[in-house]
Amino acid sequence: MIFKNIQRAVPILFIFVVLLHKSLYALDYVNKDVNIGIFVNISSVALGCSKSFIIEEDNTGKKLKFSKGMVNLICTFKGIKINNYTLRSPIKILPSNDVVFANSQAYQGYLYIKQSQNKMTIINVLPIEEYLKGVVPKEVSTSWPIEALKVQAVISRTYTIANLNKHKEQGFNLCSTTHCQVYGGLSCQAHLSNQAVKETNKEVLTYENNVIQAVFHASCGGRTDTPEYVWSWKNIPPCLKGTKCRYCRNAPYTKWEQILDEHFIHEKLSQNNKIGKIKKIKIKGKTSAKAAKELEIIHTKGKIKLNAYKFRTLVDAWKIKSHTFDSIKVKNDKIYFKGRGWGHKVGLCQEGAKGMAEKGKPYKKILLHFYPKTKIETINYWK
Ligand SMILES: [Zn+2]
Ligand SMILES: [Zn+2]
Repeated sequence: MIFKNIQRAVPILFIFVVLLHKSLYALDYVNKDVNIGIFVNISSVALGCSKSFIIEEDNTGKKLKFSKGMVNLICTFKGIKINNYTLRSPIKILPSNDVVFANSQAYQGYLYIKQSQNKMTIINVLPIEEYLKGVVPKEVSTSWPIEALKVQAVISRTYTIANLNKHKEQGFNLCSTTHCQVYGGLSCQAHLSNQAVKETNKEVLTYENNVIQAVFHASCGGRTDTPEYVWSWKNIPPCLKGTKCRYCRNAPYTKWEQILDEHFIHEKLSQNNKIGKIKKIKIKGKTSAKAAKELEIIHTKGKIKLNAYKFRTLVDAWKIKSHTFDSIKVKNDKIYFKGRGWGHKVGLCQEGAKGMAEKGKPYKKILLHFYPKTKIETINYWK
């Protein structure tokens, strides 16, 4: 009888372990390497290595060998020209020491080049954990406390895993600009940000077994917001419903003012709308985080309504720091804006994370403050 029970216990335990494993890892395994589009649709590029390197045609295996130094690649309709040779796309640049230069920037891993018409795209292929070392110091200052850098490392890793298909049609995973995450290669790496990546190795944020869309912004101005009025997302998970933030009070642009010419705004809005001279701008509705929902623009030919976040991006997202407007006034051909915070207000407030870290909060606590009800879990990479 005892023997029978032991026999049954094994498969039950096995099923339990399998289920537990499933519930822990939304993405059981992801590729260790990521493909980053570092130069998109360009005509020429200077590439090289401080040691020997090989340029290889991916489809035929045809190789050109170089000792250290730089070569110019020029894209023509016939192929990619290197000195007196023309290679057919795609090609690989394989450095012997794992460091390759492209237009004076150093990158770890190797480069993959794809041609389309007479333009080429340079893709840096490297392990995700190494890629993050070139992202964290570009997204936050490396003078920030280590716990704030660890927060950014987890957020950037989570963002990477959740957005691997963002540039699928162009043949790579993510680009190296603010459109995805800013990536500066090896040249921008710093000791503390590297430590933050290492100490959070493989950690990502999940909600109900899915890696979340870990969006972030510079400073929220008092409360983070839902993405409802920013990107019109539906079925918003509780981790992105917004939260109070009193830690970014001393950040730059917590309160800001901007004066812009009516003519400047008129010109920007005229690209998509037929409008006359702007007479008044009314704030129509506010979100729970006090951001404007819509703006009504009253002009000499009538009036239009615009989503407030869209208005900001249409006019100039750099000059207008956020759509959390306290007031908008039109006077003598000038438009006077007063507002709070910097960015779209959704997800993590980076300045708030810095403020919490300065108060001694550990990175896991900071993450759970800005993304409530999430879990910090580890992913597995394919070897
Ligand atoms: Zn992108
Ligand atoms: Zn904040």
